[in-house]
Amino acid sequence: MAKTKDSFCDFCGRPAKEAQIMISGISGHICNSCVEQAVEIVQRDGHGKGSDQTASYPKGKEALKKLLKPLEIKAHLDQYVVGQERAKRILSVAVYNHFKRLAQPPTKDATQIEKSNIMMVGHTGTGKTLLARTLAKILNVPFCIADATVITEAGYVGEDVETILTRLLQAANYDVQAAERGIVYIDEIDKIARKSDNPSITRDVSGEGVQQALLKLLEGSIVNVPPQGGRKHPEQKMIAVNTENILFICGGAFEGIERRIAQRVNVRPLGFAGQTEQAHDYSKESLLSFVSAQDLRSFGLIPELLGRLPVVTHLESLDASALRNILTEPKNAIVKQYAKLFEMEDITLTFADEALEFIVSKALEFELGARGLRSICESILLDLMFEAPSMQETKNIIIDKNFAEAHFNASVMGKGQPKSVKIAS
Ligand code: ADP
Repeated sequence: MAKTKDSFCDFCGRPAKEAQIMISGISGHICNSCVEQAVEIVQRDGHGKGSDQTASYPKGKEALKKLLKPLEIKAHLDQYVVGQERAKRILSVAVYNHFKRLAQPPTKDATQIEKSNIMMVGHTGTGKTLLARTLAKILNVPFCIADATVITEAGYVGEDVETILTRLLQAANYDVQAAERGIVYIDEIDKIARKSDNPSITRDVSGEGVQQALLKLLEGSIVNVPPQGGRKHPEQKMIAVNTENILFICGGAFEGIERRIAQRVNVRPLGFAGQTEQAHDYSKESLLSFVSAQDLRSFGLIPELLGRLPVVTHLESLDASALRNILTEPKNAIVKQYAKLFEMEDITLTFADEALEFIVSKALEFELGARGLRSICESILLDLMFEAPSMQETKNIIIDKNFAEAHFNASVMGKGQPKSVKIAS
């Protein structure tokens, strides 16, 4: 493997001194650029034939037997995700059907099972990404998260939709066949809602334009994907990826959608005035459980895109008891993670119940869902994590309410009061 000074690459003839690396075989040499080119050719022609990839996926009754059943999928989800019963059921069934579809043997039968991409509606920090990520882990398929807000219509500043698949390819280690059965989670899908109902002179390049571009991906077609992503490498060779069997899960908060649901079902959400006398009162929360494609359409998603996302589900906002469970119950619960960190220094870390309740009350106050829990814990434990590695004697630490409150109030997060911030003019 050594680089011998006066060898030449047997592929391009480049002398060793002009190559970064020269690899020697039994009776020849190859330079690093030829290796890179060879890898590209193998990726493109070896794996990248696109459309026939699912042919090698096991099919028929035998394949079906090996699939995790919806009940089993949900049981796995339960280990990581607290609450969200309905969303878990819907996702388990959708994913099971998706894999059943892959197991479908080629048939002359006119009945072809269509793909059922999923739309999740729920406030921030309620577990949308966690659900999608956990599913991918259970199913052992490549998974990537894409942010809809950075995508623009081709030719405009931003990223092209194809770069979503670049991430999936990267997650699959450029194994095109594996990527073609992967799961893509597209976050913040609500941010690409049509900007206005009136067609205007200016193009809606980050709204409706992106939705149109996404259609191509979601409906199942062969897409040419730049392996390095972006538009910075115009010379890169594209890899053909067939999206027919990629499961797309989209998620968004759809802020204010409750009002549209209320209008459709003719009820009055608590706190919104000006509805008819006979209207029932519904909390914003329970209204979200009625969410349908119709409401998403009135929010600004185009019907063609909604047609490709036939499964719509909602995630409930997390109340105090759910947040409390999230802290301690899931397999990789936040409290367990901190305990593990301290355990590595031979210190046993425990949280008193009142301290946990304090953390939950702060998370509710900050309205960040479960997302706030980690930052609050981090503020409380920062000093301790700073000092612990140098502590000699201490072997047991109990975080009680006083400790939690004092350290939280002294932290940057605790000093910023979310509800009563006044900015001096
Ligand atoms: P979203 O995508 O809905 O904004 P995430 O799934 O990214 O929210 O959640 C942020 C973090 O909060 C996750 O990493 C996870 O630790 C925690 N979390 C949120 N919801 C739940 C839940 N239902 N069960 C367990 N943990 C949760």
